[in-house]
Amino acid sequence: MLEIEDLSVSIGGKQILKDVNLRIGPGETHALFGPNGTGKTTLLNAIAGIPRYAVDSGKIIFKGMDITQMPMDERAKLGIGMAFQRPPAIRGLRLKDLIKIINPQADAAAILKKMDFDAFGEREVNRGFSGGEVKRSEMVQLLAQQPDLVMLDEPDSGVDLENIKLIGGAINQLTQKDIRPSSRTKSGIIITHFGHILEYMKTDRAHVMVGGSIVCSGNPSEILEQIKKSGYEGCVACLCPA
Ligand code: ADP
Ligand code: MG
Repeated sequence: MLEIEDLSVSIGGKQILKDVNLRIGPGETHALFGPNGTGKTTLLNAIAGIPRYAVDSGKIIFKGMDITQMPMDERAKLGIGMAFQRPPAIRGLRLKDLIKIINPQADAAAILKKMDFDAFGEREVNRGFSGGEVKRSEMVQLLAQQPDLVMLDEPDSGVDLENIKLIGGAINQLTQKDIRPSSRTKSGIIITHFGHILEYMKTDRAHVMVGGSIVCSGNPSEILEQIKKSGYEGCVACLCPA
């Protein structure tokens, strides 16, 4: 589904990502861990194609196509979807109208109900929403889009316990963890700090990013255990000795 080859990315002339390699197969969902400011959001934004993230070298391959230079809207049409860490509010656009723009066939009422968000359909997108409400608004948009690769940038931050279950359930559905493994075709990547949401959704593999590079990859629960025990640096030293 996704192949990142030796990707280096800079923002405003400052290098953030260094030689990142990552492969996510169809039906797989990966977790991405790492300290603040290490480049996790930069990686997802570069895959999404936000213009200010300059690819200095390396390639992004999606479904076998080189999308490294492709405009963002074309990537979305090809099946890349993203829940942003801090999405903007959109004045003058109601959430239920955005759902129709994303996918005219979508059942807006059913999607809003699923996320316990009925009352927000008439509201302007993210305008005056609380932190947790913004996260549910992002999930509503992804449920309308049904992307083949779903990228989630801290979908759990600022979300209360009850809604974490709701969001975890929606992610499982988007990444087809609710059907048998051999039938799965969709993929996902999730950035999270707490791991709490991982109790409500399934991940197949995890990576630790430090200083703009992926320094360790492995089993999600083992890596999370190590991070909890000895921090990111300790996790790296323990699981991926040089
Ligand atoms: P993470 O998601 O891992 O916390 P980010 O990818 O958001 O980290 O940020 C990586 C680094 O890039 C940080 O040092 C951040 O300050 C820097 N950065 C992000 N956006 C910009 C920008 N628009 N201009 C300059 N530096 C930026
Ligand atoms: Mg981030």
